[in-house]
Amino acid sequence: MQKKSPPSDVNFVPSCAAIIVAAGSGTRALAGDTSASITALTKQFWQLGTKTVLEHSLDYFTAHRLIAAVILVLPKCQISRINDLIMPTPTPVHLVVGGATRQESVRAGLNALEASVDTDSIAHVAIHDAARPLIPTNLLDRLLTALEVEKDDKTVGAIPVLSFADSIKTFDQNHTNKSKIIDSSLNRSKIAIAQTPQLFNLRAITSLHREFADQLGFTDDCSLAEKAGFNILAIDGAKQLMKLTDNDDYIMLEQWATRTNTTFLSANKAKTGNMTETRHGTGFDVHKFDHESGPIWLGGIKLDSDRRILAHSDGDVGLHALCDAIFGALADGDIGSHFPPSEPQWKNASSAVFLTFAIRRLAERGGALIHLDLTFICENPKIGPHRNAMRARISKICGLSIDRVSVKATTSEGLGFTGRGEGIAAQASVSITLPALPGMSTQPNQDGQG
Ligand code: MG
Repeated sequence: MQKKSPPSDVNFVPSCAAIIVAAGSGTRALAGDTSASITALTKQFWQLGTKTVLEHSLDYFTAHRLIAAVILVLPKCQISRINDLIMPTPTPVHLVVGGATRQESVRAGLNALEASVDTDSIAHVAIHDAARPLIPTNLLDRLLTALEVEKDDKTVGAIPVLSFADSIKTFDQNHTNKSKIIDSSLNRSKIAIAQTPQLFNLRAITSLHREFADQLGFTDDCSLAEKAGFNILAIDGAKQLMKLTDNDDYIMLEQWATRTNTTFLSANKAKTGNMTETRHGTGFDVHKFDHESGPIWLGGIKLDSDRRILAHSDGDVGLHALCDAIFGALADGDIGSHFPPSEPQWKNASSAVFLTFAIRRLAERGGALIHLDLTFICENPKIGPHRNAMRARISKICGLSIDRVSVKATTSEGLGFTGRGEGIAAQASVSITLPALPGMSTQPNQDGQG
């Protein structure tokens, strides 16, 4: 059977929705931690690398080309707070108040999806627990591919699972003393840990959640399908998908979060050994000022300006130059080839979405960003007062520590279009590492020609 691959063309219509469940209070994880600043926050707001726990999942789904809409299920008390966290993206994010249990929260999410999104073109829904922040980049594609290959009426979902490396024991339930007594060993090849996101046929899982609304106690969505006798496919999960439940998890996840693109690097190392190559890319962009006043986007942040910028998207020359620098280092076209200005879907689009996409293209090749350097060329606005805010924002979007993010500015001494204040220019350079490719020459040219 020929395997289907998810579409790689950005022009196709996305056919999945995502429900992120973050409705639990989640305060037990660091209960023993003495840091009041951490324990005062529910775990979805803890900082993990350059983002909060919740932002990792939210950014994954809003930037994914398969996702048409995201439903974020939260406790009622966090609805107002979350508005500050959500970046403007072309993928709509709908907030909904969760229920008392996970199962009720997912049902609330499915109801909200039906009520707020045109679901005619949506075939699948990925249901994800926000407490698993580090989703491998290609996981959703792999789940969808598995489900599309195994097309039959009985198979309604696919989930990531992680097998056990340890021996698994059961306890003697009749033993009432304080210490536990081992009763037997389980065949570990027959059991695995269920992770999220779990991908389902939208209509099937919606129907199952309604059917079992009176039977609470299902701890994941796969369990409902099992109970109803449907088949669920299992694909390889990942250790980095671990659930954040205690201090030890937090320490491990933090280490993973600060190492970008871990999964891809290790996957590619298997093919290429430990050889890597370093590449550099450059990008340049210009946008023209309008005569009307209005806010402008520059270096990922919004600034007041006496003149708007003319552009199809939000017109952030800095992020556009950075995208082109990354595409250049990958020899992967340019921003116009990935996001054509002729396409209405990119009208007023946040350039953060473009940069997130460029970072994903890099991750899909097993690469990592090492450093970036962005220079604005303009008379106005003055960049200096906003430099650190821009660096912080770009650091967050790229998942790169701030000491590897440089933002500079210069003028053109009154000369040319930037000197006359007719527009803003930006140039960027990036350094990346990639796994060494088979075509990379390590031997001198045999014919002696350089
Ligand atoms: Mg541009």
